[in-house]
Amino acid sequence: MTTHALLLLPGDGIGIETIAEVERLIAFFNARSNKGKFTVERDVVGGTAYDAHGVAITDAAMAKAQKADAVMFGAVGGPKWDKVPYEHRPEAGLLRLRKDLDLFANLRPAICYPALADASSLKRELVEGLDIMIVRELTGGVYFGEPKEIVTLENGERRAVDTQLYTSREIERIAKVAFDLARKRGNKVHSAEKRNVMKTGVLWNQVVTEVHKSYAPDVKLEHILADNCAMQLIRNPKQFDVIVTDNLFGDVLSDEAAMMTGSLGMLPSASLGAPDAKTGKRKALYEPVHGSAPDIAGKGLANPIATIASFGMALRYSCDMGAEADLIDKAISSVLDKGLRTGDIMQPGMTQVGTTQMGRAIEAALKALTA
Ligand code: NAD
Repeated sequence: MTTHALLLLPGDGIGIETIAEVERLIAFFNARSNKGKFTVERDVVGGTAYDAHGVAITDAAMAKAQKADAVMFGAVGGPKWDKVPYEHRPEAGLLRLRKDLDLFANLRPAICYPALADASSLKRELVEGLDIMIVRELTGGVYFGEPKEIVTLENGERRAVDTQLYTSREIERIAKVAFDLARKRGNKVHSAEKRNVMKTGVLWNQVVTEVHKSYAPDVKLEHILADNCAMQLIRNPKQFDVIVTDNLFGDVLSDEAAMMTGSLGMLPSASLGAPDAKTGKRKALYEPVHGSAPDIAGKGLANPIATIASFGMALRYSCDMGAEADLIDKAISSVLDKGLRTGDIMQPGMTQVGTTQMGRAIEAALKALTA
């Protein structure tokens, strides 16, 4: 039987509460004798790590992350740490994880559960059954390119510069992630850039075309201008399967797609590194899109579904347990169909529950599905 090593980093605020619900599901899967088992390590990150160790993540926790098959991350931050030195702010823990594990591919699914279709800002018929995967390049592009500065010119004006910069290697590796994913889904990739006005867009377009030809001719590829992609997402989102795009456009397009599906409390994500040359395994971190929600932290009100769905992604992409990941998705869907809602997704006539009740209901649904 395969054993998968998980590192749990709950972090701060509601991260602690939602990761506890993932622990419930880990125990559920470990109790099933015929499937893969999980070993679990735990550590602190963010403000909680700063309080304990004076840094947002320790070298010891980083060493555990390097060894793990998957890191399950909750959320970090909160007003308590607003004044800590910049280099030790809670987010520094997450940034170090992304950098040291070289997590260059950010996967953001936008899935609309039928029971929540009316909570979308778009009409039900546009979003019901929606299942898009946005693959965003996470470690390059304009957020990191140098020069990056604000200078004062001789005439006293100030000038700001950010540099959009991509190498063919960076584009090639993210394109391969998108094609690999598409093969397991609807077999279609849209590559979004701005080749009409940006040199990085021209190179992006060329490299994705080359990778398609040599690596994935079986997958349908369409190139789309990023601004048109933003428009089409609102007009007819179900035309998309996988969208691959750079760091900046991905930041915007993934938030746009996310909002079609309802609440922040429903949105999972994965960040993947390059496959290891020997084992083929990728470094990976899974986390909800939301933050530590200080306004509801500690009250048992947080929606755990984003974190639980992130665990589902860990099963799918790091543990080769696609069938179990499907079970988690079905369990979430069935609990929503029964009318259970946390406060953030509450609708008239439904039953409001807290974090633990939602976690327990999903566990019960899993038991029923596997009985
Ligand atoms: P947030 O995502 O924490 O909260 C935004 C709003 O959504 C709040 O009203 C919150 O109550 C609600 N919300 C979020 N997740 C929810 C859930 N699972 N269930 C129910 N309601 C939920 O964003 P924010 O308020 O801008 O930031 C709060 C803190 O989190 C800040 O310190 C910020 O820096 C940090 N943050 C961390 C991450 C991360 O760890 N990846 C991401 C975003 C923000």
